[in-house]
Amino acid sequence: MSDLAINGGTPVREAMLPYGKQTIEQDDIEAVTNALQSDFLTTGPEISAFEKEFASFVGTAEGVAVSNGTVSLHTIMNAIDVQPGDEVIVPTMTFIATANSVLMQGGTPVIADVQPGTLLLDPTDVEKKITDKTKAVVAVDYAGQPCDYDELRALCDKHNLVLIDDAPHALGGTYKGKSVGTLADLNSFSFHPVKAITTGEGGMITTDNADFAERMRKFRNHGISKTAEQRQSQDTWEYEIHDLGYNYRLTDVQCALGRSQLKKLPQWVARRQEIAAKYDEAFANISGVTPLTQKEDRTSGRHLYVVLVDPDVLSVGRKEVFEALRAEGIGVNVHYIPVHMQDLYKKKLGTKEGMCPVAEDAYSRMITLPLFTKMTDEDASDVIKAVEKICAAYS
Ligand SMILES: *Cc1c(COP(=O)(O)O)cnc(C)c1O
Repeated sequence: MSDLAINGGTPVREAMLPYGKQTIEQDDIEAVTNALQSDFLTTGPEISAFEKEFASFVGTAEGVAVSNGTVSLHTIMNAIDVQPGDEVIVPTMTFIATANSVLMQGGTPVIADVQPGTLLLDPTDVEKKITDKTKAVVAVDYAGQPCDYDELRALCDKHNLVLIDDAPHALGGTYKGKSVGTLADLNSFSFHPVKAITTGEGGMITTDNADFAERMRKFRNHGISKTAEQRQSQDTWEYEIHDLGYNYRLTDVQCALGRSQLKKLPQWVARRQEIAAKYDEAFANISGVTPLTQKEDRTSGRHLYVVLVDPDVLSVGRKEVFEALRAEGIGVNVHYIPVHMQDLYKKKLGTKEGMCPVAEDAYSRMITLPLFTKMTDEDASDVIKAVEKICAAYS
C-alpha cells in the first residue's frame, strides 16, 4: 500500500494522461486554413457539403449542422413541437443537456432508469412512464453502445411517440448491422473536442424526414423562411418569419474541419475499439473493477471506457480509487451524476434519490478511464498498471 503515489510512492506516470482529447492533424489544419482564405467564414458552401457527407456516412437523407450538441437537442425538441404540458422520457444516466433541452422548449422531462451492466435506457421503465402526455423518448447510447432500438421502436410505434437518439457517444457504432445515426427518427451528435470527431464546438442532426429537416434549418437561422443563398440567387431582400428561431448556425470554417475529420472517423473508431479491447482483456483478470457489459448484436463507438468498482473486493470506495488513480497520473473522470439527483431537477420536477436505483448504484461506483484515438499502447498499459496496482493495494 505504501508504494501508492497517493501515499508518497512513485506514480505510474509523471504527466497526467487526460480521459479524452481531440486529434488534429496536418490535413485538418490545411482544411481550416483554406476555409479561412475563402469568401465565407460562416454560411458558405462547407456547411451543406459537411451535412451531405455526414448524412451519407451514417446513411440518412438529411443532415442539419448546428452550433453544438446541446442546441442540436433543443432544435430537435422544437422540430417535434414540444409544448408546455408535453412529456419527453429521458434516461437519468446522461449529460444534463439531454434533459435540459426538453425544459428549453417548456416541456417536462420524465426521467427513466437504466439497465444494470450496460447503463442503457431500460425499455421496461420507459413503458411504465408513458402517459397520454408523452410525446417522445430520448435514447442515449451511453459510453458508445447503441440502446435496445427494436424494443424502443416497438414502444414508440405502439404509443405514437417520436424516437430520438442522443448519439454523440456512439458515432461509428452499429446496431444489428445498421449504423448509429439511422436508428431513431431524429439523431443528435456533438463535435466537442472529447467526442469522436471535433469542430471545436459543433453539432449535427440526422434524419430521413424532410419536413423535420426544413423546420430545423429555419430554427437554427432565426426562423427565416429563405436561406441566404435563395435570397442571393433570386435577387431579393425579402424573407418571412413565421416562428421563433435562434442563431444556432455552425460556421463554414468549422464545417471544413468537420469534413476533414469525418474522412478519418472509421480508422479513429477502430483505434478506440482496439484500446477498449486491450482494457477488456486486462480487466477480466483484475478483481476490484468491472467494465460495462457489451451486447452481442451491436458495436460501440467507444466514447467512454467506464468501470464499476466492486465494494465486495476493495476495502475502499470509488472516491478513494478515483483519487489514487489521479495521483498515479491517470486523468480519470465520472460520467455522469444522474440527472434526477441534480438540484435543478429536484426543484423543478420534485425528483429524489431512490427514484432510479440502478443508475444511483452505478453512479456510486463508476470511474471513466482514459480513452482517445491518439493514446499509445504504452498509455493504455500505464492505465492498466495503475488500476492493477491500486486494486492489489486495496484488496
Ligand atoms: C456531449 C454531449 C451532449 C452535448 O454536446 P455539446 O456539444 O457539448 O453541447 C449532449 N448529450 C450527450 C450524451 C453528450 O455526450
